Amino acid sequence: MIDLETLIILIVTATIMLIILTYLEFRKKPKKPEYITKELLECIKCNYRLEQDFEPGDFISMYKRKCPRCGGLMKIKAIYAVEKSFKHHI
Ligand SMILES: [Zn+2]
Repeated sequence: MIDLETLIILIVTATIMLIILTYLEFRKKPKKPEYITKELLECIKCNYRLEQDFEPGDFISMYKRKCPRCGGLMKIKAIYAVEKSFKHHI
């Protein structure tokens, strides 16, 4: 038979542990999602699309590079931020 004192100690210990666990879980939770800036390139000739990391100085409608498919010019269509873990499909 458990006496009242032991029972109270058990309950108090369990409650404190629960509070600590909740606190730790709460501290862990609000992790900021990390973003990376991407840009979407599109070939003006064959409409081939390519996504790559944003480079400083780039802007929308800038001719960035040559198309790996046809050698035409590739234009920056869009610049956007995506969550690091987020898989983006063009
Ligand atoms: Zn092309």
